[in-house]
Amino acid sequence: TEISAQKTPAPEGPKSKLNVAFLGVGLRGQGHVGLVLDRDDCNVVAINDVDDQMIEKTKEMFTKRGKPQPKVFKGERAYLELLEEENVDAVIIASPWRWHSEMAIAAMNAGKYVGMEVCGGFSMNECWELVNTQERTGSHLFFLENVCYRRDVMAILNMVRQEMFGELIHLEGGYQHDLRTVKFNDGKQPYGGGVEFGEKGFSESKWRTKHSVHRNGELYPTHGLGPVANYIDINRGNRMLYLTSFASQARGLHDYVVNHEKGGPDHPNAKIDFKLGDKVTTTIKCNNGETIVLHHDTNLPRPYSLAFRVQGTKGLWMAVNKSLHIEGMSPAHRWEDADPYLKKYDHPLWQRLEQKAVGAGHGGMDFFLINSFIESAKRNETPAFDVYDAASWLCITPLSEQSIAMGSQPMAIPDFTRGRWTERKPNFAFGDEY
Ligand code: NAD
Repeated sequence: TEISAQKTPAPEGPKSKLNVAFLGVGLRGQGHVGLVLDRDDCNVVAINDVDDQMIEKTKEMFTKRGKPQPKVFKGERAYLELLEEENVDAVIIASPWRWHSEMAIAAMNAGKYVGMEVCGGFSMNECWELVNTQERTGSHLFFLENVCYRRDVMAILNMVRQEMFGELIHLEGGYQHDLRTVKFNDGKQPYGGGVEFGEKGFSESKWRTKHSVHRNGELYPTHGLGPVANYIDINRGNRMLYLTSFASQARGLHDYVVNHEKGGPDHPNAKIDFKLGDKVTTTIKCNNGETIVLHHDTNLPRPYSLAFRVQGTKGLWMAVNKSLHIEGMSPAHRWEDADPYLKKYDHPLWQRLEQKAVGAGHGGMDFFLINSFIESAKRNETPAFDVYDAASWLCITPLSEQSIAMGSQPMAIPDFTRGRWTERKPNFAFGDEY
């Protein structure tokens, strides 16, 4: 593959200080606030939330570090006032899913450099509106897909680029995470306890659970899709053409409420008919021939796994058994421990910045994500994952919902680049800088 960095620094060079604001400072937002506060090239100038407890917790982070307190904007659409602040250069959106696109569109219109947390989309119009707003305003949208920076995921990227697996044929990824204690969480001790959600819930159970009540589809596609999209140059020489989705029956959330000590068969939440199938499986066909399978699995007892599988003409890696097989290197028909390969092909970015990432969220990858966001924003550059990636990854959700609703009908995936995927070049992580 011909490659180019595609990074065009602003003529005046990177900003020495970036003023950052946060829309949504819940658990995820606070993690990002901490990473940004710990840098000497940023000021956190404003925060926005609707919840006093989350605002107070965030303010304490400033006090602990001896940093000046941010301006606080409280209220459901207070973000609109925040965006009028001229000294805000960049915003990070970590609010509930329902707000992401609305906030990102307003922030791009206000000329800010925008980081948007992961989610699934709601409609195709929303995805197009993100693209159209970016193109009209020229403000950048960085889709904050942290798993693309996971150490093993980046080592495998290195191996893919050295063609260790040959031509890629089939890829898998997904979100396989037992979220039952997240979806039902009354905020009382022990953490994660209870069978409540919505108004009586805490953090994600306040808003995330209702998506499982009303929706049936691949609700969280990007942790699985982002990394594999990088492996096969989606939107940069390749594109996704169509998908089909299947959903199993929904039992896990109901059983959890019925069997929980604070629940039981007579609890009101035991009467809910959850729509989200416990296992949702989506298959995507790509222009260059590859197939991608996405797994969504959040309601059943299970260990965490993002289900990666990268398979080509010369071999494969499967994250779930931490093994790989490469023809000519591995013993015939046998798995090999992937670890020595992951060490040997460790990405230069990780080698260089490993020490700085110690202690950052999700095994350090959140440091790399925020570092890339800040460095790109300081230079006002096209981000690693741009609005075309955002739109094409987000649209998997509404398309999978429609596919399932129509008996697993194939659904066409739009070309949000309007043909430019044929010319765009891969740009993620070619150097060791950020
Ligand atoms: P959370 O509920 O703890 O935080 C969301 C915050 O947004 C809350 O403090 C809430 O009060 C606030 N909020 C609600 N409506 C708002 C509004 N109109 N304006 C401003 N603030 C508003 O949830 P979370 O776990 O922090 O999740 C936030 C986002 O981050 C979600 O998209 C989630 O999927 C994502 N997330 C990503 C990762 C990852 O690894 N990439 C991990 C966790 C969460």
